[in-house]
Amino acid sequence: MISYNNMLKYDYLIVGAGLFGSVFAHEATKKGKRCLVIDKRPHKGGNVYCEDVSGINVHKYGAHIFHTNDKAIWEYVNQFTEFNNYINSPISNSKGKLYNLPFNMNTFYQLWGVKTPQEAKTIINKQIQDYGTKQPKNLEEQALSLIGKDIYETLIKDYTEKQWGIKASKLPAFIIKRLPVRYTFDNNYFNDTYQGIPIGGYNTIIEGLLKGVEVKTNVDFFENQDEYIQCANKIVYTGKIDEYYNYQHGKLEYRSLRFETETLQDISNFQGNAVVNYNDKQVPYTRIIEHKHFQFGTQKDTVITREYPEAWSDKKEAYYPINNELNQKRYQKYNALAKSEKHIIFGGRLAEYKYYDMHQIIASALKKITIEFAN
Ligand code: UDP
Repeated sequence: MISYNNMLKYDYLIVGAGLFGSVFAHEATKKGKRCLVIDKRPHKGGNVYCEDVSGINVHKYGAHIFHTNDKAIWEYVNQFTEFNNYINSPISNSKGKLYNLPFNMNTFYQLWGVKTPQEAKTIINKQIQDYGTKQPKNLEEQALSLIGKDIYETLIKDYTEKQWGIKASKLPAFIIKRLPVRYTFDNNYFNDTYQGIPIGGYNTIIEGLLKGVEVKTNVDFFENQDEYIQCANKIVYTGKIDEYYNYQHGKLEYRSLRFETETLQDISNFQGNAVVNYNDKQVPYTRIIEHKHFQFGTQKDTVITREYPEAWSDKKEAYYPINNELNQKRYQKYNALAKSEKHIIFGGRLAEYKYYDMHQIIASALKKITIEFAN
């Protein structure tokens, strides 16, 4: 336990050393504020943390690929590190056959042997017409009316049901809108202008952000909450918002993941790509990540991670918010409480209960900093 003799020693106590907390701490420190960052994990960086295994940056909490359309955010992260020119182009394995993702001319050729956009459109439009639904109410209907039966059954249905643990017909339609459909031979998974992996890994960004900031790891805010609250003028809280309010409006639900990571000695290239998705239900995991390919590694060994979606419980990491009506209603109640707070700022994926990408978290932190210092 840390004792601060109930003195207001800091301007900000920042709970969580992930991207949101680190950006906030960096900007507040730059403005001359005294910050203390605490994190219950043994390391900084939250879910972008990488572990060095034989010179390979292993993405400990799932693959992170930086991408944004926002030039200001791109320049912001480039202050701390250089990025390589990695472009995410996942391969999909469905019943032993390989396909390119996202859905593009390569995929259509692999599925149907078509060689021109016109031929592909003819097939897809016929399948959409045969299906006939105009106003999709769930993910299954959305996919079938957007891309047709073949792609839905080969590349979407089983993957999605493994990922979320429920029927695609019970999931909200918006999840599938994340996936681009293209009539060009373009395997770039993202539509954004800027993309890459930090050279030296994500830890270099976190180190840069937290340079000169006091950070304590292995520290659980809730173990000494009263004491921590008294040591700073304001709190920036990036943990689960329902936990902060003692679950008084019920628990917010999540989907969790289990990662099985292994080092393959003397195998320099296991799968030839950073990300291979497994899209049928015979394979229990959703993807295998081969970390070295994010950085074009030439080491003699390789490290791979199988990613298994799992039911979430308190003891597991909360990865994906379950965005159904029940959880959104609960979140709105917590958010109303948060809005009435004068001394606490809530931010980040867990405190805002949002399936944020990295660039969105940085944007959110910079926005909150601007509001904070405008007052
Ligand atoms: N998805 C799919 N097949 C794939 C990859 C993704 O059907 O091969 C669907 C799935 O429903 C998933 C959603 O698209 O939940 C978003 O996937 P994305 O890869 O963008 O999410 P990530 O898990 O990487 O954040």
